[in-house]
Amino acid sequence: MFFTKQKLVILVLLVFLSCKESIKNQSSMKKIVIAHRGASGYLPEHTMEAKAMAYAMNSDYIEQDLVLSKDNVPVVIHDIYLDDVTNVNKVFPDRKRKDGRFYVIDFTFDELQRLQVIERFDPKTGKQFYPKRFPKGKGNFKLHSLQQEIELIQGLNYSTGKDIGIYPEIKNPKFHHQNGKDIAKITINILSQYGYKTKKDKCIFQCFDAKGLERVRKELKSDLFLVQLIEFEEETKKLKHFATYADGIGPWYKQVLDKKEAGKWEFTSLVEDAHTLGLKVHPYTFRVDQLDEFSSFEEMMKVLLIDANVDGGFTDFPDKMVAFLTKK
Ligand code: CA
Repeated sequence: MFFTKQKLVILVLLVFLSCKESIKNQSSMKKIVIAHRGASGYLPEHTMEAKAMAYAMNSDYIEQDLVLSKDNVPVVIHDIYLDDVTNVNKVFPDRKRKDGRFYVIDFTFDELQRLQVIERFDPKTGKQFYPKRFPKGKGNFKLHSLQQEIELIQGLNYSTGKDIGIYPEIKNPKFHHQNGKDIAKITINILSQYGYKTKKDKCIFQCFDAKGLERVRKELKSDLFLVQLIEFEEETKKLKHFATYADGIGPWYKQVLDKKEAGKWEFTSLVEDAHTLGLKVHPYTFRVDQLDEFSSFEEMMKVLLIDANVDGGFTDFPDKMVAFLTKK
């Protein structure tokens, strides 16, 4: 009798543990929506407004690209330049370098706050990059720091009860080093102050520079979830090395696609190879207004998320990707 009871207890415990495990597996299998520069399909990229909108659209993660100011503040902006997303040439016309460009790193954070952020455009022609997006020069948008954006997202997590993550990218660590700055170290310290320290925290840290990202794990000893971004084709052959320090890769989505035969897509071995090594795959960038080889956003989502089986991706239109993933 005693043994039977004990057996029963063990059985219940095993069932409980296996349920818990399967729930855990399910949640780790969930495909994640990363709001690329915020809801940048609708509002100027990397503005607080674009981030709040991405938050309200229930993105899983919101992306921050980071460049240091002259006084070492990580500014949320996509490039080391200012002249394709702000009115810097009007506010500080004499502050360009010899190459004719204005650099974030040449301005203090206070100075950067005086600029107006505008929809991305070509500084040579003045033409808006995506003509159907937010009208260039309208509204009143400002640059902000990593800390300010974390406080927005954590504040919203508090007031809404949601748990939306951050997905910071340090831009061009080599360029920062040449200018006497350690962007990786500064960023890791700030993330840690805000509670982002381990893979369990809702923070995914990304970088294109492989040496720079490897250093974050091996020299700076960060325990964060690291994603190695991939720009060039030859880097897709270095997955084994990436797996020695990273938890995932962020390839260009075209590196996942091989060719279309008789109306059906065939894929490269990238996703399978990455999964074999335990790496998640988060390709960039899904855009409604730049579909290229796809006839609709729906098709793009189906081919990449379902058929190619990637684990999530970067999109300028988080609402559309959330809608695809949540439809019955
Ligand atoms: Ca980025």
